[in-house]
Amino acid sequence: MTAQAICENLETVRKEIFDCAVKHNRDHESVKLVAVSKLKPHDAVMAAYGVGQRDFGENRMPEFVDKHAALPDDIRWHFIGHLQSNKVRHAVACSDLIHAVDSAKLIDRIGRIAGELGKCQPILLEANISGEESKFGSSLSGLEDLVQKALSTENVELCGFMTMAPFNAGHDELVKTFSTLRDFRDAMEVRHGVTLPELSMGMSGDYEEAIECGATYVRIGTAIFGAR
Ligand SMILES: *Cc1c(COP(=O)(O)O)cnc(C)c1O
Repeated sequence: MTAQAICENLETVRKEIFDCAVKHNRDHESVKLVAVSKLKPHDAVMAAYGVGQRDFGENRMPEFVDKHAALPDDIRWHFIGHLQSNKVRHAVACSDLIHAVDSAKLIDRIGRIAGELGKCQPILLEANISGEESKFGSSLSGLEDLVQKALSTENVELCGFMTMAPFNAGHDELVKTFSTLRDFRDAMEVRHGVTLPELSMGMSGDYEEAIECGATYVRIGTAIFGAR
């Protein structure tokens, strides 16, 4: 994909996010675009960077560490992949936000390593709403314990939740999935007396429904950078 095509795609996606936010009575600035650059070369990231994109998402560790080291310092990096415990150090060192935390063990390890590195690590907890076994993330009942755990772990800042919709879900199922996560978030805010502002949901194929249901981060790869 040429740099020009990436810029055009980015413009299209930005406009669709804007239109969708307006259509659903939301402030368009409350929907942040994470450009998912996994498996794409540095040039592709820089093409998007050149037209103002600063939030990028990656999901594989050697590639993430490499891009983090090589690309501009003012990029905000999002680790969106499944996190293995032996990769936590890299994730904490390189991530502005870790999207897919799904166990107490990971929360502990993130807190300990963030403390060693002198930072407080923003995280999201990953929900598996559909219950598909192929997916990572925790059931909502398991997440209730993880919320408590994350809120009480030093050097961890719980910012909200992330989910992936079932593959090939139709409009109604998407809306049900995403609004279930939003309602869960609302309930956790009340129960714990905290704000959990971020909802990371929506990819190239389903971000309109996610924005309708309150997404604050949409993670979009293919629609910007082309097929992988
Ligand atoms: C790859 C990936 C995306 C982006 O998917 P597209 O369909 O290419 O937009 C979003 N979220 C996660 C967790 C991913 O792994």
